[in-house]
Amino acid sequence: MGSGLLHTVRASDHILAELTARVAELETERGLTLRLAQTDSLTGLVNRGAFTTELCQRLETARAKGRRLALFVVDLDRFKQLNDTLGHHAGDLFLAEIGERLRCDCGAGELVARLGGDEFALIADAGDGDISGRAERLLALLTQPHIIYGRAVSPGASVGVAVFPDDAGDAGDLQRFADMALYRVKTAGGRRWSAFDAELRDENERRRTLEAELRRAIPAGEIEPWFQPVVDSRDGRIVGVEVLARWRHPEQGLLTPAAFVPIAEELGLIGRIDEAVFEAGCRLAAPWVKDGLIEVVSFNVSPRDLLDPAFSRKLIGRLAKTDLPATALTVEITETFLLQDMALSRRHIERLNAKGVRIALDDFGTGYSNLRALMHLPIQTVKLDRSLICDVASDPKVAKLVASVLHAARALGVRIVAEGVEEESQAIFLRASGCERMQGYWFARPMPADQMAMALRQSQAATPRVLTPEPQRRRASA
Ligand code: C2E
Ligand code: CA
Ligand code: CA
Repeated sequence: MGSGLLHTVRASDHILAELTARVAELETERGLTLRLAQTDSLTGLVNRGAFTTELCQRLETARAKGRRLALFVVDLDRFKQLNDTLGHHAGDLFLAEIGERLRCDCGAGELVARLGGDEFALIADAGDGDISGRAERLLALLTQPHIIYGRAVSPGASVGVAVFPDDAGDAGDLQRFADMALYRVKTAGGRRWSAFDAELRDENERRRTLEAELRRAIPAGEIEPWFQPVVDSRDGRIVGVEVLARWRHPEQGLLTPAAFVPIAEELGLIGRIDEAVFEAGCRLAAPWVKDGLIEVVSFNVSPRDLLDPAFSRKLIGRLAKTDLPATALTVEITETFLLQDMALSRRHIERLNAKGVRIALDDFGTGYSNLRALMHLPIQTVKLDRSLICDVASDPKVAKLVASVLHAARALGVRIVAEGVEEESQAIFLRASGCERMQGYWFARPMPADQMAMALRQSQAATPRVLTPEPQRRRASA
């Protein structure tokens, strides 16, 4: 071999070595990046994304080997309180401590993760027996107090469990079922663990059925608008209607929103329901406005709809396709959304106001920060919540509060509608306190369009009546 060739070989050796080193370096870097992408930075545990991937893989292995796996989901109780009282830094310290405890306690082959916030998860071998021992140990570990800033804190924890393959055959169901078990513990006060069981399986079936039925019901036109009169306090004349959704279920009969609005929100179907109710509601109520029978038609919108930046523009577009004048339309909004995103709320409200549409703040008196919304946003109407109205005639403190809210509203130029007026004494008090408008069972319950049309014609024919509400007449004739 000539020296030239030898030199070339040496040089290529050198290059090769350098290349190998560089590749190794890159791989470490990539590994590090990969690890960082899979790790929760606060606790050093696996994060949600990596956990889900890992869960799927482990389920495959378990399936192949005929093994059982348990998925535990953990949610700390009252963690928000700890955060609020001791500050976020203390909250972080506590989460890191919980992460450390879980990691140290983790058996061979087990995996712990932080799913986000104060939620953790554990995958463990379920063996042949029951998982209660493992669940008890997990709960005990989480309830031990921890010293932060010299104070012992123990917010406690709730745990939900589901087992593969006993409860579910795939990762999605397993997670959902463990969450359902956790949710049940949480709503019962927490500090316990619970396994997915027959009761939850039934609930899951019911939800599944409801979900499928709801998807079918919307295009089938089974969701319909009902109407509840809003009356003028001075003479009891009907001046407006609130449109309320009803589901005419083929087997279960008429369903109120409590039975389907929460699940529709969860499934992202509420927008379509609101749209259907709006379209049909406008079509039915526009002639009443045109004939001068009512001035106001109000609709409820879900806070979810309002998160859509195009919500107001879409609503204006939809309104233009109906015969309802914009000035007759009121959109009822709850404060939950308003305070979540003030800037977006303001944009929606201003866009609607510019067209002549009014905004009502719904369920006033139930939240903490209603006054803030009222002061900072251009709101035209406030709907006093039923919970305030029901004690207005019996509790002098509530009466004083309502009277001062009415006074403040007058000062701000905001109209008040009292909701849920069920008794004459309440109506008399509200009228005497200067509340302009009322709504409630005392006057009329929500009713379908044909009945509403009839009631309007009757109220037009009758001479103005001073609070001669329906139940009274019903009672008198009974
Ligand atoms: P809300 O907006 O506070 O509507 C008033 C609710 O109080 C209605 O219940 C009405 O029937 C009921 N109500 C009226 N007067 C009285 C009374 O004197 N006593 C009692 N106990 N209740 C009275 P409903 O129709 O079951 O609606 C419940 C909630 O569902 C509504 O509360 C509203 O938040 C929501 N909702 C109704 N329709 C729609 C809709 O089309 N879209 C959306 N997103 N939500 C809707
Ligand atoms: Ca409402
Ligand atoms: Ca309300």
